[in-house]
Amino acid sequence: MACPLSHYSDVFNARAWAHKTAEYFLLPREPFIEIFAIDPKYIRTPAESFAYGPNLLNRKFKIAFSTVRKDPKTGVLVPDNCVECLTNDMAVAPVLVNGKVEAFQVYVGGSQGERNGKPTMATLAQPLTVIPEKQLLAVLDGVVKVHQEYGDRQNRFWARLKYVIQKQGVDWFRARVSDKVGFKLPLPDPDHDYGNRHLHHGWQGQPSNGLLAYGVFIENGRVSDAGPNGRLKSMVRDIMNKYPVEFMTTPNQDILFTNIPKASMKDFEAELKSYGYGLRNGKPYSNLRLYSGACVGRDTCRLTYTDSEKFEPILIDELEKLGWGDVKESIGVTGCERQCFRPATKAIGLVGSGVDRYQFKLFGDESGRFQGKPLISDDGEKMYLRSVPHEDVPAVIDTLLRFYQGNRKDGEGLGAFHRRVGADELIKHLQQNPATASLMEKTFTTDCVME
Ligand code: SF4
Repeated sequence: MACPLSHYSDVFNARAWAHKTAEYFLLPREPFIEIFAIDPKYIRTPAESFAYGPNLLNRKFKIAFSTVRKDPKTGVLVPDNCVECLTNDMAVAPVLVNGKVEAFQVYVGGSQGERNGKPTMATLAQPLTVIPEKQLLAVLDGVVKVHQEYGDRQNRFWARLKYVIQKQGVDWFRARVSDKVGFKLPLPDPDHDYGNRHLHHGWQGQPSNGLLAYGVFIENGRVSDAGPNGRLKSMVRDIMNKYPVEFMTTPNQDILFTNIPKASMKDFEAELKSYGYGLRNGKPYSNLRLYSGACVGRDTCRLTYTDSEKFEPILIDELEKLGWGDVKESIGVTGCERQCFRPATKAIGLVGSGVDRYQFKLFGDESGRFQGKPLISDDGEKMYLRSVPHEDVPAVIDTLLRFYQGNRKDGEGLGAFHRRVGADELIKHLQQNPATASLMEKTFTTDCVME
């Protein structure tokens, strides 16, 4: 995955690198050619490709590229991590040398999926190395080969790269990849800045061709004419027919219309408005709504316990009524612990844990730089807010936000506040608050929590 907007960058086209990587790791095509009797002349053959051998990979393997873009107002180069790269098995972040992307920092071992009742974990990738562009493909190849060799093939729940890194450590892994590529991988820069989670809403420049892109917020990725967000399905169809634009989806389930001439800006905005875009039940989208989101949940995903997609907008409605719409914080909701929307890299993560029940994950934040975790006492003995009925979720968030509002330092975000005060202080506050005290009486064991 890569930032779609980087396709039009004059600094770094992460999307092109993601395509190149996808081509390189294409699965062997021979079995498909044979089974479906495909004429090989219709098969694309990449110039270089990964040598899978007889065993393919241990399980899925996700790779993401962050990017760098130029701020149109200041001309300053800004790292952009709309993909939340560290949540992937492997992440690649560009490194600037004299204002140009000439090297990459590679991270390994991220993944958000867990499994209830099994010792599994959600974690962010760790820095592995920093290398020049000409060595990047060889290092990607080496990382996948080492995982292919050492990753678990007996236990499906431990088959992802994060468990190899957890067990052996990143230094051991760097040495194995060095063996594969035939040179010693340099140490990474522990302070490398891969950027924040930019959402690309509204007008965006396309420096490579001087045209514009417009990012449209799509609540939970659902393009529909039904519901309180306007006639989005008609809007998308009609815009695609009427304007010579292209259509892209973003890593945050939104839409980018691209290649819009500057002269069409006013018309284009009026067109969006004519379908009711920008309002929900007649009110402009709040900050909290724009930053938050959910996975598809019930109706679409058979693995879910809850209706995450439909619950999240109603939860934001409730929080807006309580006065929290303006906060620039994010809430991520998923229907189960596989955590496809990456809830635990939001300021408040809600992970479906039973029928219409959610587990709270805290200590992450809007920047996508911190891994959210369950609320566990500092002695590691008790877990709280593991299974909160959906109707009680607004009261818990309201209590957390009030605690934050009354005690934060200047400029401190919600996640940073949670990390500073720590679990025991949060637990004490929630226990003492009448709105949440009864929810805090129920505690859970921490047997299956991996650190
Ligand atoms: S997180 Fe959501 S979309 Fe992903 S498997 Fe669970 S319910 Fe399905």
